[in-house]
Amino acid sequence: MRRVVVCGVGVVALVSLGIFATFMPGSHSEPGSRSEPSNVAAGHAALLPPPPAAPQAVAALAAAGRAQLGTPADNGAIKAPSPPAPKVVAGPPCQTPGALGVARVVEIDTTGGPGFGFQHFKAYDFLNPGEVVLTFDDGPWPINTPAVLAALAAQCTKATFFSIGKHAVWHPEILKQVAAAGHTIGSHTWSHVDLVKKSPADAKDEIEKGISAVRAALGAPYAPFFRFPELRHPPEMMTYLEGRNIAMFSTDLDSFDFKIKNPDQIVASVMTKLKKDGKGIILMHDFQRATAQALPELLSELKTNGYKVVQLTAKTSIETLPEYDAMMSQEIKGGTANARPTASVVRTVSEGN
Ligand SMILES: [Zn+2]
Repeated sequence: MRRVVVCGVGVVALVSLGIFATFMPGSHSEPGSRSEPSNVAAGHAALLPPPPAAPQAVAALAAAGRAQLGTPADNGAIKAPSPPAPKVVAGPPCQTPGALGVARVVEIDTTGGPGFGFQHFKAYDFLNPGEVVLTFDDGPWPINTPAVLAALAAQCTKATFFSIGKHAVWHPEILKQVAAAGHTIGSHTWSHVDLVKKSPADAKDEIEKGISAVRAALGAPYAPFFRFPELRHPPEMMTYLEGRNIAMFSTDLDSFDFKIKNPDQIVASVMTKLKKDGKGIILMHDFQRATAQALPELLSELKTNGYKVVQLTAKTSIETLPEYDAMMSQEIKGGTANARPTASVVRTVSEGN
């Protein structure tokens, strides 16, 4: 297995001007609620052709975005060194001869907030013909996420999971299983709202609460990777994430698993698109039952057809913002910001026989 570094420094300016913002209607199935996924369509973005971007305009927009939203670059202070890379867990040794496995691990330098996934970002074409990246959104979720983990483990392969903050807080033990299996974790907002419909301040809150919630649920550093809900990219938020040095992931190949709801058809959907494109970052949902059911067959098909899995890792871990960490700590404790240990608050004074 070889490791390749994808460097993101100084990059994204052109792709992230915001011109790729998406306007296609479409709502995502209701993650963010405690109910099972519905069949409401997840968002999918129309690809708009990139107009030429003037560098000055990019710089001005970036500066304006930082000033308005208060990223760490505001005051021109010298930035502290980034935290070290999140620990990549190797996971148990592969017990399956001839499994799909991981052909290549790439490390992404998220400086400047590079974007990936040709539906919206075209600067970094890092996959070779026949290579795929497996990505799963909207978890962690009972039954479905563990089933996805089991299918990946059976093929000794690795994926990236973009977790919803609320779901992470509700099911931290499942999120920890994802990390323990050696997969890469990113965030996907707090409650999966369409950020295009939010004010910049509210959109920032959604992003940052999600980032801190996943960190709190996981109890460990994770990758500065982010995916916009419904693949809708507000220009101000793209600029904001650039200032936060968080990589943005769109997709090359949308499984439409949230809509198809039939395991065989999900497999066919992905394989048909892959045969056409030859490679790509595949968008799926560990939140969806049909996806979990489809995955063993899909991975088997990938193997049979000679596709290779590339795992994404990050050069540094995400830096959470203290005010949002405090907010999430309160959320996890059910609204009590400074809870004392239970034993110091409640003690047994009398017990029956
Ligand atoms: Zn989603």
